[in-house]
Amino acid sequence: MAKTEAVVHVINGRQKKLVHGHPWIYGNEIERVEGDPADGELVEAVDFRGRFLGRGIYNSHSLLTVRLLTHDGTEVTEELIRERVKNACRMRKTVLARPGTDSCRLIYGEADLLPGVICDRFGGTVVLQILTLGMEKYTDVIADALMDCEQPECLYLKNDDRIRQKEGMDCFVRVIRGNLPETVIVTENGIRMKVDIEGGQKTGSFLDQKANHLYVRQFSKDARVLDCFSYSGGFALNAAYAGAREVRAVDISEGAVRLIAENAVLNGLTVEPILANCFDFLREQVRLGEQYDVIILDPPAFTKAHANMENACRGYKEIALSAMRLLPAGGILATHSCSYHMPEETFLNTVYSAAQDLHRTVQLLDLRRQDMDHPVLAGYPESHYLKSVWLRMLDGPASR
Ligand code: SAH
Repeated sequence: MAKTEAVVHVINGRQKKLVHGHPWIYGNEIERVEGDPADGELVEAVDFRGRFLGRGIYNSHSLLTVRLLTHDGTEVTEELIRERVKNACRMRKTVLARPGTDSCRLIYGEADLLPGVICDRFGGTVVLQILTLGMEKYTDVIADALMDCEQPECLYLKNDDRIRQKEGMDCFVRVIRGNLPETVIVTENGIRMKVDIEGGQKTGSFLDQKANHLYVRQFSKDARVLDCFSYSGGFALNAAYAGAREVRAVDISEGAVRLIAENAVLNGLTVEPILANCFDFLREQVRLGEQYDVIILDPPAFTKAHANMENACRGYKEIALSAMRLLPAGGILATHSCSYHMPEETFLNTVYSAAQDLHRTVQLLDLRRQDMDHPVLAGYPESHYLKSVWLRMLDGPASR
């Protein structure tokens, strides 16, 4: 007979978000635990009145003590996990059907109802990352389902994110199926890009910006374009492809700058890679009186916690101020925040306040987000992390 699940009682006031589909129960939201669940074991969650809230996985090592997998009476079985993987892959067929696109995120964790499971497809290579203890035991089930749906040449388990240690798990990487090719080159909207799977950032590339990379093309013909925090050059390459007059791509990482140069050659495009700290570079460009038609800012998350919001806003504002100084009337600024702690409205107001300080009038052309292979789950706002603000400078710098 199956062991009776332990029951986690959620404190009064914290049940509403769970009823609305949020999957996380923090340790400090738990009033008491009935039974003695082992880490990684299934538990039932109930509200203060004992009403059923869902079933999830318990981990006393994690701040997120329970991650709910179902919000109704559904049993958590291998079959359920398999179906969820398949369902996630099904939606991505739409993304992979885009012209000249062979890469996308296949599984986006909680938003695909698979907490802490990240999976990216890079051409024939699929990279899987499991960041929660609860999902770790389903590694084979997930891997088999991925092999079934995607038939990749290589399935690579990249369990090297240090977040795993917070869950009480070790870090390792392992090829599950096939061999990892020496060089992985993907095609994104017809542009070829080298992906450093073993040494690169995250799973190897930033797939969340695909649609925004494409979006920059419409502003780029004959333009002088500056791509700041460029990584492998996604924005820069698309601008060059669309006929930009000049493209410069700046990053602080030597590996990134090398990737940009290689990717430009791979596509027969001209991009000038620049190794620099963007804060200093932008300031220097202002001092030199440089002007650009299009500037992209895509920094890493300035804040990983809500408490650092003020500092983060200062950082976003500083680079926006510099960028606006480099843009004449008609210039386009695309600025991004990839921190989910930064609400869209706060980010937008931060960017607007830079324009106000400079007495510039700006138009909001578009408010975009991460590409749809990183879907936002209703009731789980944390799944919306990327804010993409596209502005047009309506007037030039104030004449004195
Ligand atoms: N724009 C990229 C993703 C950028 S990720 C894309 O569309 O794919 C953020 C990048 O910022 C990383 O490559 C990181 O190396 C770089 N970075 C971090 N701090 C920086 C700084 N102060 N100056 C320049 N680059 C920085």
